Formats: sequence, structure tokens, C-alpha cells
Amino acid sequence: MVTQSAASTSHPSELAQPVNKTAHEFDKTTLDALLARRFFFAPAFEIYGGVAGLYDYGPTGSALQANVLDAWRKHYIIEEDMLELDTTIMTLSEVLKTSGHVDKFADWMVKDVQTGEIFRADHLVEAVIEARLKGDKEARGVKEEPVVEEDDKKKKKKKNVKSVAIKLEDGVVAEYESLLAQIDNYTGPELGELVRKHNIRNPATGNELSEPVEFNLMFESNIGPTGQIKGYLRPETAQGHFVNFARLLEFNNGKVPFASAQIGRSFRNEIAPRQGLLRVREFTMAEIEHYVDPLDKRHARFNEVKDVKLTLLPKDVQSEGRTETTQMTVGDAVAQKIVDNETLGYFLGRTQLFLEKIGIDPTRTRCRQHMANEMAHYAADCWDFEIQSSYGWIECVGCADRSAYDLTVHSVRTKQPLRVQQKLDQPRKVEKLDVHFDAKKFGMTFKKDATMIKETLLGLEKDKLQCIKDELVNGTSSVKCADGKSYDITSDLVKIEPITVTEYMREFTPNVIEPSFGIGRILYSLLEHSYWAREQDKARGVLSLPSVVAPIKCLIVTISQDAELRAKIHEISRKMRRIGIASRVDDSSASIGKKYARNDELGTPFGCTVDFATLQKGTITLRERDSTSQLIGQVDDVISVVDQLVKGTIDWQGASAKLEVYSGVQDVEE
Ligand code: AMP
Repeated sequence: MVTQSAASTSHPSELAQPVNKTAHEFDKTTLDALLARRFFFAPAFEIYGGVAGLYDYGPTGSALQANVLDAWRKHYIIEEDMLELDTTIMTLSEVLKTSGHVDKFADWMVKDVQTGEIFRADHLVEAVIEARLKGDKEARGVKEEPVVEEDDKKKKKKKNVKSVAIKLEDGVVAEYESLLAQIDNYTGPELGELVRKHNIRNPATGNELSEPVEFNLMFESNIGPTGQIKGYLRPETAQGHFVNFARLLEFNNGKVPFASAQIGRSFRNEIAPRQGLLRVREFTMAEIEHYVDPLDKRHARFNEVKDVKLTLLPKDVQSEGRTETTQMTVGDAVAQKIVDNETLGYFLGRTQLFLEKIGIDPTRTRCRQHMANEMAHYAADCWDFEIQSSYGWIECVGCADRSAYDLTVHSVRTKQPLRVQQKLDQPRKVEKLDVHFDAKKFGMTFKKDATMIKETLLGLEKDKLQCIKDELVNGTSSVKCADGKSYDITSDLVKIEPITVTEYMREFTPNVIEPSFGIGRILYSLLEHSYWAREQDKARGVLSLPSVVAPIKCLIVTISQDAELRAKIHEISRKMRRIGIASRVDDSSASIGKKYARNDELGTPFGCTVDFATLQKGTITLRERDSTSQLIGQVDDVISVVDQLVKGTIDWQGASAKLEVYSGVQDVEE
């Protein structure tokens, strides 16, 4: 039982008890049991047998997600003055046709030629090669790291790809390791070659596999009763930003740089959803589209993040088949041109800070640069923020410089000018290259592609146009368009001449830097990083969630079922709620120790206990979750301290300077 007495108070310096959070090895089975028992999330339609890749969040998971999103809004939208959007999920097919999703938003799948079982090609190659490497280690007697338990479906998959203790030749080991380091870099046909070269088969049946074929990941739908308008559930929120660009630009007084931001649901019909929340078919994204002048990708607040340390895995290291990382500040990474530009570097730095703020372990994050094949053809540079969990390194945030691609293709398709006009301080004489078309011949030669090719040529920078002009001297040249294809042009269709013009305005299509966050992946990684078990009892799990994201901030309990004490806890809870502190009363008959333990599992950072001293002296105790140390003070003082703790304006050390240390009785262990 916890009691309060004046004799039990002591000086704040006696407070700090080091907390051993690594006494027990991470145990995923216990964490999974906790997450299910305390209803963080569960399979959707579970009582009907569930559907792979669809999950419902319960009260704790929903509150945690809402708090992560609130922190995200404050960190980006509020602090950086971004323009928030909420655009429709149901998306017109034409929009996604223009963006390239209808033709290209696909993964490669292979089929067991006899049973028809389907696999995602890259995942299967990866699993089989990993199993062979594991078998090699077993044959050589190399001790493996203990395998963490995973969800049931993954377990089944792993069972299928059992390792067999067979020694591989040294050259093969190196080849396999290099293959794994580049697994995201292979095209479909290349995956087909790997399947053939390494004799990869369905691990369960031993049957051969088909050539990889593309499977589009979008859910198709029809809009309206006659169904003549085709639509898709959006696979990302980004297109909703781009189609509203003209309004956004006007809202921002016609000036760049600025950013739009959106939080919302996206849908992807994944071939093989797996790894719990990490690969699902419906998920929450938070996306930023930052519009910049293509000739000036500096960022006004770059100085604020230049000293933030990142762990980098650049593309050239990966293409050599290696995975070692380099620690570097954002400033150095941009100065050394490892990260393409300041704005991209700025967002990498800000993202590192955001992840740390919500409780992601900074030693388990890295920025992996996309290799050539992985990156969209139009992208200038792309980095994935990966977070390590028991599932390995998983992409949780993608940060891409998408160049002018999106705005250009939508502008060409809709004939709406999605461009910025900038008045020049001084009119200037400019040597330009003027492009003339033989309109009739050009239209007849390129038909439906004529406008796109024309717009592309007109939008080219001077040096690129000069190259084409030089080539046209010999009769032909080619132009690469936003659809990824190159079109041959001839000197009878296009003439490029130098001219001098006086310019009063400059006009350009902004480039877009896009940080794109998968909230479910971040949320799950956070749960793993926060989980540990008390030294004295492996079964007493704790989620050390920072109070900024914890679903409930303060537990309020009483030591007895006395009616007056019970009334008091409800009164304190009401007071806390009135000032916006999510508190929870536990007036069950369980012991205090049990109540604390139950709330440690929910990640509740603080707990207030009411006892008879509350009635006599007006005091309550305040407990900190991780250290279990306690302070004591008058009810209103304690509430004010909890408020400051939750807002992050003081830490526990600060709280212990405001209240007295209470060391009378420690937690009652169950
Ligand atoms: P992408 O547009 O593919 O770069 O995805 C952006 C972000 O969305 C990724 O960094 C992930 O965090 C998240 N994401 C993508 N696909 C899924 C999925 N199937 N399940 C959960 N999160 C996903």
C-alpha cells in the first residue's frame, strides 16, 4: 500500500535512480500480446476471419496515432507555416493516368506455374537468398542472432523458406550478399533473370515460377450510378496537392518557395501484405510538397538544421554491394553534394528531429539513398528514412526531389499554366534560343504526343536546347519527355534560332521536394523502440512513450475504495481534463501496484495517487513511469506540474524542484 507522510520526503538530489531498460532481451511475442490485449490495433473484421493488410486501431492505438499526427502538424504545418489541404480520396482516373500511376504504379509478381500461388518477386528472391545464406552459416557452425518471432502470416512464410545447412562457395556468398544489398534496384526482367540464374522456386512446393509480371496496386472504382466515370482510391495524397497548385500559389501571393501539407488515408492493393502494420492495404500518410525555384534550392532555415547528425547510406556504397553507413551533419552532406540540395537536406534534418521528438531511437534510424533503378526517371535525388525494428530496416519516410515532373504533366494535360511568374527588379536583355515549329508537319508526325513534345521543348533550359540545336545541324535530334520516352525530331519540323529579348518577368515551373510519411510504420517502430520489461519481472512490460504522444498522460488512482477518496479522484480527473490533460481514473479494486503496471503497459507517463492524507492535508503523490520515483504536493500544484510536464516545458528534474520528493513507499509489485 502507498501511504504519504511528511517523514517520507527527501531532497531532490536523492531522486535519480538509474533505470535498467535492457535487463531483458527484446521479446516481440510479449509486445504483440500487450498490443493485442490493450487494443492498440487488431485485424479488421476479425470476427469474420479478417482480411490481410487491413487493421483497426483501438482506443490506445487511435489516441497514439492522433498524438503522433498532432506532433507532426505542429512540427511541420504550424512551425513552418505550411498550407494544409484535405483533398478527396476517390480520385479521377485521368489524374492518375497523367501522373503515371495507371501505367506504372505496379509491383512485379511471380506465379507458381503449377499451383498458381502468387509471390511478390523481389520479396521471394530476398527470402530465398537470405535462407541460403543462413543455411551456409549453419553449415559453417556460425552462431546466428536469435530469430525474433513475427506475426503468424510471416511465420508461415518463414517456415516456407526454411534454411538448410548447406555450405556455399565463397564467391556465391559474396554474390548473394551483393544481391541482397541491391534488392530494391532490380527491374522486373532482372528479377526474372535472378530467379532463373539462382534456380529460385516456390519454397513450399519446389515448383518453377513464371516470368515476373506487373500488378497495378491501385483499387479501381466507378463514380456515379452509371459508372461511366472511372476512379481509383488514391495510392498517395500527393496528386491532390498538385491539381490544386494554381490556387495554392495564388493563396501564397504568387510566390515560391512554400509548401502544402496533407494528412490522409491512402490505399495500395499490396500483393502480399505482411509484417503487421508495416505493409498494409489502407494506411495514413502525411505528405509535404515543397515548391522551389529550380535555380535556387536553398532553404531560408537551413542553418537551423545544419548541425543535425544523420546516418547516411549513399547509393554508391549500395551499388558496390555494401551496407556500411556514415555519420554526417546535414551541413556537410549538402556541402559535399552527397545530398543534392539544401531543401532536401533541410527536410532530412527536420525529419530526424521529428522522429526523435516522438520517441524513435536515433541510433536506429538511417537515411538510405535510392539507387538509379529505384528512383523515378524524373527524380533528381531521393532518400528513404529507414527505421530499424525486429523486421529489419524499413522505409518509413521517403524524401524525394521530384523536379518539375508532376506540375509539368498536369499542366500539359489540362492546358492550365501551373507556373510561377516572377517580376524582375530590372528588365534584362537575354540571349535566348527561340524554337519554331512547322505546326502542320509537327502535328501530323507526332499526333496526340505533339503538344507534350512541344511543351517539353519550350520548357528546356538554354544549354539543353543548344545541344539539340547542334545535333539538328546534322538533321536529327531527340527530346526526352515526362512520359519517360525519347522522341526523334528533325530539322524540317523544328528550327532553333538565337534571339535577344528584353524580359520583364521570369516564368518557371517550380520543382517539388516531397517528404512522405507512412504513419503506421512510424507508429509500430515507435512501439518497438519504447518497449522494455522491468528488471525484476520480465512479464512487467513498459512502453516508455514520451508524454507528447502517450495515449493517456496521467493515471489517477486511490489507495482504497473509500467513497470520499473515490469522489476525489474523479474531481482531480475533471480538473485535468478541463485544462486538456488526457487523464484516466482507475477506481477498480485492484492494488496500486497492479494499477501502475497496467498503465505502464499503456505508456502512461505519470500517475497521481490519492489517499487519506489528501483529505487531511490536501496532498497527492505524483509518480514517474520509468523510474517509478514519486513526488508529493498540494493537489493544484501537482496538477500544474503535470500540465507543464505534459507540455514539455519542464522535465522530471524540473518537477522535482517544484514538488517534494516522496520516498516513503515504492511501487507495490504484483
Ligand atoms: P512511397 O510513396 O511508396 O514512397 O511511400 C511513402 C511512405 O508510405 C513510405 O515511406 C511508407 O512509410 C508508407 N507506405 C508505403 N506503402 C505502405 C504500405 N503498404 N503499408 C504501410 N505503409 C506504407
